[in-house]
Amino acid sequence: MGMAAPVKIIAVGDELLEGRTLDSNSRDIQRALGGHAVQVELVQMVPDRQDAIVQALDRTTEGDLVFMCGGLGSTPDDLTREAVAVWGGVDLPEDERAMEMIRARYRRRGRAMHPVVARQARVPAGLRPVANPVGSAPGLVGRLRGRHLILLPGFPAELNGLLPLMVAELRGSGLLPAEGRVLTYRLAQITELALVDLCRPVMDSHPGLKWSWWVTDWGVDLRVAAPGGCADDAMPQEMADALEAALGHHVFSRRDQDLAAVVQKMMLARAATCGVAESCTGGLIGGALTANPGSSGFFRGGFLVYADDAKSKLLEVGEADLAGHGAVSEPVARAMAAGCRRKLGCDYALAVSGISGPGGGTEGKPVGTTWVAVATPSALFAHCYRFPADRRRNRLLTVAAALDSLRRVLQFGDDADPWSLTAAWDFRA
Ligand code: AMP
Ligand code: MG
Repeated sequence: MGMAAPVKIIAVGDELLEGRTLDSNSRDIQRALGGHAVQVELVQMVPDRQDAIVQALDRTTEGDLVFMCGGLGSTPDDLTREAVAVWGGVDLPEDERAMEMIRARYRRRGRAMHPVVARQARVPAGLRPVANPVGSAPGLVGRLRGRHLILLPGFPAELNGLLPLMVAELRGSGLLPAEGRVLTYRLAQITELALVDLCRPVMDSHPGLKWSWWVTDWGVDLRVAAPGGCADDAMPQEMADALEAALGHHVFSRRDQDLAAVVQKMMLARAATCGVAESCTGGLIGGALTANPGSSGFFRGGFLVYADDAKSKLLEVGEADLAGHGAVSEPVARAMAAGCRRKLGCDYALAVSGISGPGGGTEGKPVGTTWVAVATPSALFAHCYRFPADRRRNRLLTVAAALDSLRRVLQFGDDADPWSLTAAWDFRA
């Protein structure tokens, strides 16, 4: 295997530089390349200006694999194709294949094509169009001035529709090395530093690997790669086994799955149903559990019980418990989970009640104090967290804690207290 070409990414769009839109496209491109032994060397964000796009292309060198996104639409500010033609010193003729791809798309939708859309059929000489399974603007690929260019539309859904095709094509033509041996683990209810401690013995006994850790909405992700290459002997099975044993029950996925997708898969596999009773998360848990297609196969519904009387009216939480212990308390969280399970007739129920902040904290119950309860067909468990962050992050941590606790019950059994396993999580009250 030869040296892989360096990858450079250029994201075009005024909205990216004005802080209105987060550049998720560059991330998605990098992720699509993630399993390959390639190095992303440069990511540039440039405004919708021809000179700025040309300058960004000037920062690439011969042999580079250059991904560009944005500015391929039909509004007057979409200038990527013009800029590429100017930079490449080539014409920008209308391409019959591109025109037919766009027409076919409008035919399928039974809609008339707005005349300005014809601009999307202009292709810098030397590039060729690749039909977009999601939107109308085709992707454009080819060699220009010694660079291999891959032009993608700006809409994230369209870009993500084209990316797998592009990556497969690059791999087919030998421009991307085969997927390397990369271990990926997604973990929940653990902090970065606690995870590093778990990894340490394996790191020490297997030097020379590249380790990366990063915080996600669900917890922490871990990636271990053999630098530059992917030979199996760089990362023997024995090493993977040792790492797996060290990480233990914190791992919820060994692939790119999110926690809600993992819970969904486990629920569907046992034909079980669940529901939620949410206070401080205001529907975020239900939102997460319905984000993936197929959720109707297990998710029954939920209760958004923010006020005390909503908790008692909808879920029969005892008024004495609410008055005596407060809404953020063990008896109330337990009663919410039990009430939810009973009312919905589902197998499992999650309940959360917490103080997200910034106000509302007291000495006994500071901001971040959060009760999570899980009702199973045979048991009822509850646990108090003390999350350390701001309102937004505390709510996300609550979603992750609740979903991961359900995941643990599904993995270890209805009578297994999901919190008896926890050792490395230091957000405990
Ligand atoms: P465009 O094809 O440049 O008109 O982009 C279409 C839309 O996609 C824009 O209006 C943005 O909302 C979105 N978009 C463009 N570039 C990006 C990017 N790098 N990351 C995320 N969204 C983007
Ligand atoms: Mg744009």
